[in-house]
Amino acid sequence: MDFEQKRRAGIAGRQKNDDAERLVSGGRVDDDDAVELKLRPQRLAEFIGQAKAKEQLAIALEAARSRGEALDHVLLFGPPGLGKTTLASIIANELGVGFQQTSGPALQVQGDMAAILTNLKAKQVLFLDEIHRLQPVMEEKLYTALEDYHLDIMIGTGPSARTHVMRIDPFTFVAATTRPGLLSSPLRSRFGILLRLEFYTDDELRFVVERSAEVLGVPIDRDGAAEIAMRSRGTPRIANRLLRRVRDYAEVRAKGRIDRETANAALTMLEVDAHGFDELDRRLLRTIIEKYDGGPVGLNTLAAALAEEQDALEEVYEPFLIQIGFLDRTPRGRVATRLAYEHLGIEMPRRPTLFG
Ligand code: ADP
Repeated sequence: MDFEQKRRAGIAGRQKNDDAERLVSGGRVDDDDAVELKLRPQRLAEFIGQAKAKEQLAIALEAARSRGEALDHVLLFGPPGLGKTTLASIIANELGVGFQQTSGPALQVQGDMAAILTNLKAKQVLFLDEIHRLQPVMEEKLYTALEDYHLDIMIGTGPSARTHVMRIDPFTFVAATTRPGLLSSPLRSRFGILLRLEFYTDDELRFVVERSAEVLGVPIDRDGAAEIAMRSRGTPRIANRLLRRVRDYAEVRAKGRIDRETANAALTMLEVDAHGFDELDRRLLRTIIEKYDGGPVGLNTLAAALAEEQDALEEVYEPFLIQIGFLDRTPRGRVATRLAYEHLGIEMPRRPTLFG
């Protein structure tokens, strides 16, 4: 299994694979897909949070609608589970057009891309997830499709090879990536609208939990929803997953109602701590503090010390730890902050200052 397959299976770079560990990963795990479809907001107005991205998108949608043209191509980027796929399908709904979905690793040969592009109807949305994993030859084919709506296909090989030009109906391309830094600049320049998704605040996540509870028909009070929100690492996918697990607990132990006490007891049982940290988060911070005196330590050294893959650390774990101020990325490496020491109950050594 490569890294991405493992991430999708929720076991990216993990040593163990128990429930408590998978629970707070932003990537999809096996039982997420069916429920996610049900919980996915359909319209922009139902999409909670991300005020900046939403406003930018609303304006672009309105302009495209009034001109009667296809929307400019859109690049969505941000950590897993923040709503990239959801927004892509909302774009299609808002434009009242069809939605086709594929992903970078799924497109293996020229024919795959040609089949998808030539089957698109005018103005449709084509969503390509994990665009940073698209093969370079495919990327080049995509350029002309995005710019002039045609595709050059080589037929035959050797001296008798010919190029056949296929026309494509104008369409809206929506791509998503967790690693915008890996995209080549020619590819990036093909997008007219760049939307960065940020981690959600606790209040926004409380709304997500309350909305999902309503869809699932689970009685929950405000404090119960807040408790789940607080431990969801700023990520709606995790909030929805924790809600489902707390619901199971509440059904067995609390007549199905979720309040703060039930949520707290369920999450403690599932070993999700107050920040939604799992075992690897704690191990990562502890390693920096105990083995490397709090850092700085380089990413590759850290990955080796934890026996984890660099990609998993950089893409899945670090963004949230940095966001909540537990970890710093400096030019010399990763550094654990005062908050990390406090959270783990370790005293922070006094560092010598210029004044002794
Ligand atoms: P990504 O593509 O970024 O990994 P998804 O779009 O698949 O994330 O979102 C994961 C789940 O989180 C969706 O099923 C959806 O129910 C929920 N979700 C994401 N963003 C929001 C939001 N802003 N409001 C409500 N639910 C959301």
